[in-house]
Amino acid sequence: MRIFIINLLIGLLVATIAQSKGHSFSKWLINGAILGPFALLYSIFMPRKKQRSSGQKKQINCPHCNKMIEVDATRCPYCEKKIDIIDV
Ligand SMILES: [Zn+2]
Repeated sequence: MRIFIINLLIGLLVATIAQSKGHSFSKWLINGAILGPFALLYSIFMPRKKQRSSGQKKQINCPHCNKMIEVDATRCPYCEKKIDIIDV
């Protein structure tokens, strides 16, 4: 029983670290609870997820419909028109 509680606490810690690096909280809560100290070590050294955690992607206005789209988009998700590559 005591080990279960310790693993749950480790799981919470792992999940918090993982979340701060842009990973799923619930997934790492389970991983941490099962793997214990190994998951903790992994979460400390695991790389940041690139998509969300490393700041928001630069956005530009679509030249056709004027909505905000990602700067490297080749096609507007709103009006579906092709976006020419613009130097920013
Ligand atoms: Zn558009």
